Amino acid sequence: MPDTLHGKIALVTGAGSGIGRATSLVLAREGATIVVSDVNADGGEETLSAIKDMGGDGMFVHADVSRAADVEALVEATVKAYGRLDCSYNNAGIEGYIGGRLHEYPEDTWDRLMDINVKGVWLCLKYEIPQMLKQGGGAIVNTASAAGLVGSRQLSAYSASKHAVVGLTKSAALEYAKDGIRVNAVCPGIIDTPMMDRLVAGRDDYAATIPTRQPIGRKGTPGEIAEAVAWLCSDAASLVTGLAMPVDGAFTAQ
Ligand code: NAD
Repeated sequence: MPDTLHGKIALVTGAGSGIGRATSLVLAREGATIVVSDVNADGGEETLSAIKDMGGDGMFVHADVSRAADVEALVEATVKAYGRLDCSYNNAGIEGYIGGRLHEYPEDTWDRLMDINVKGVWLCLKYEIPQMLKQGGGAIVNTASAAGLVGSRQLSAYSASKHAVVGLTKSAALEYAKDGIRVNAVCPGIIDTPMMDRLVAGRDDYAATIPTRQPIGRKGTPGEIAEAVAWLCSDAASLVTGLAMPVDGAFTAQ
């Protein structure tokens, strides 16, 4: 699907690694100018270089999505540079703590996880939507997770945070459907990224379950999530809003 986002301005959070980086490259391939954002400046700059190497355009803006002032400034910088915001991929997230049951989960980690995974997505929506209302529409995709659709042992806080992202996505879709703003979520299964490497590090028992938990029998690639996001951002998905789309090799079909 070549050039489906020709001339669009797209913002990607968590763009310095994994799924966010792969999606930035696919959106650029489809003709969008990318505002690459991350709390990790080195990772973000690397993504921007890769976009430029393939002939694309964009800029890096440092932002911690859990801080309102950062997110507000991120949207302002986008509009200042490019005049509009057509597509937003609210993707930044952390895995938190793994290795224990719910009663063992540390409270400070719970708070940090909720600040980034839930409040971070809410803040992005809060500051992106007014710009999209002003310009008469836009497309937003949030990164939830297969763990946002079903429960997940040893990942209760993460699973709760991603269920919240699904709730925010569906509610925002309802509230802004008549304004031309589509809001969807992708729900990745087990994807080969630095986050997944951290989740399985030293946990052979956990790693060994991956092929059976994901019936396709392998991990997904970041690029496979990126293609779904690009479609949801494009006009080809003009009737699609309020969807929490599993991209998970049948993980949640079981
Ligand atoms: P990753 O760790 O490779 O990338 C996450 C990026 O988010 C990093 O560049 C990190 O610096 C950035 N980030 C973290 N906290 C931030 C903050 N406060 N503000 C701005 N940026 C911040 O992980 P990934 O696997 O690419 O994950 C991307 C998204 O996909 C996350 O929301 C994750 O929960 C979700 N997800 C991943 C998988 C998987 O299997 N990898 C599955 C389902 C959902």
